[in-house]
Amino acid sequence: AKREGKNSVRAFQPLMGIEAAERVSTERDLRLALTQRHLVLHYQSQFDAQSGRLTGFEALVRWQHPTHGLLYPGKFIEIAEDSGLIVPMGEWVLNEACRQAAVWGANGQGFTVSVNVSALQFMDPVFLLKVQAALDSSGLKPECLILELTESVLLENRERALKQLTHLRDIGVRLALDDFGTGYSSLGLLQHLQGDILKIDSSFVRGGQIDVAGPGRALIEFLISLAHSLGMCVIAEGVETEEQYQALRSLDCDRIQGFLLGRPEPAELIEKRLNMVEPR
Ligand code: C2E
Ligand code: CA
Ligand code: CA
Ligand code: CA
Repeated sequence: AKREGKNSVRAFQPLMGIEAAERVSTERDLRLALTQRHLVLHYQSQFDAQSGRLTGFEALVRWQHPTHGLLYPGKFIEIAEDSGLIVPMGEWVLNEACRQAAVWGANGQGFTVSVNVSALQFMDPVFLLKVQAALDSSGLKPECLILELTESVLLENRERALKQLTHLRDIGVRLALDDFGTGYSSLGLLQHLQGDILKIDSSFVRGGQIDVAGPGRALIEFLISLAHSLGMCVIAEGVETEEQYQALRSLDCDRIQGFLLGRPEPAELIEKRLNMVEPR
């Protein structure tokens, strides 16, 4: 007998709100974008705070939408996370960033590429294999890859997350705690990140009550010395002014990332920049 289940259910579905409908169409478009290679990576340079030397890049995903133009992660990452698409998308980002960094000579010149990893990806049991595969197929040395995780990722399923950190360290990649100081902020988490990287969130660096050039200076100074005493390297992000740069430098911050020194740029522009940098 013919089953009429699916179609009849659809007919009785209430009209979706505009927002929900938009999400569904964005999700469908995003699925296509993944297969049609409409995603691109832009790279933001990071510099040694003292010498000004280039130390690496953070890979940031963008969506070259056929009709809406270049879309930033704020427009689609959440939808990618909610739909699970972040897993294949993140895998693409990981592979592409490793490939690109290897082509740029990261191994020989010793610079790093940083990749953002979201919770769903990180907790995926095959994530370790994917990281290893990205390194193997690109030839990138593990120490040239930095995985950026947020505090919330590590707090959600603490036991498993800490185990995962250990496995990743065994592979030899480096880890960065992203957006530190926003949301969950657990100082206790830092003890598990010895030798890794702390990224001080841009909200500490600019504006608000915690501006590096204002009273927030003491807080940043504390964070930096705490991180250093744990053997961590500190990157300040969102550095937009010379004043912030100088303040961070005097507070012994290790690395600087921000519009002052460079916006996220397409690979072609980074390539030009690299050609001008003397290999060490
Ligand atoms: P994030 O990891 O904190 O990345 C830094 C964001 O700050 C980037 O925004 C960058 O363009 C912006 N930024 C850098 N310097 C400055 C500055 O001096 N001033 C200001 N106002 N902004 C600055 P973007 O590229 O829009 O990315 C937003 C967020 O999307 C990222 O925040 C990250 O959480 C997420 N994201 C980006 N790419 C990926 C990805 O491949 N995978 C995952 N899971 N998330 C990603
Ligand atoms: Ca990041
Ligand atoms: Ca960040
Ligand atoms: Ca952020």
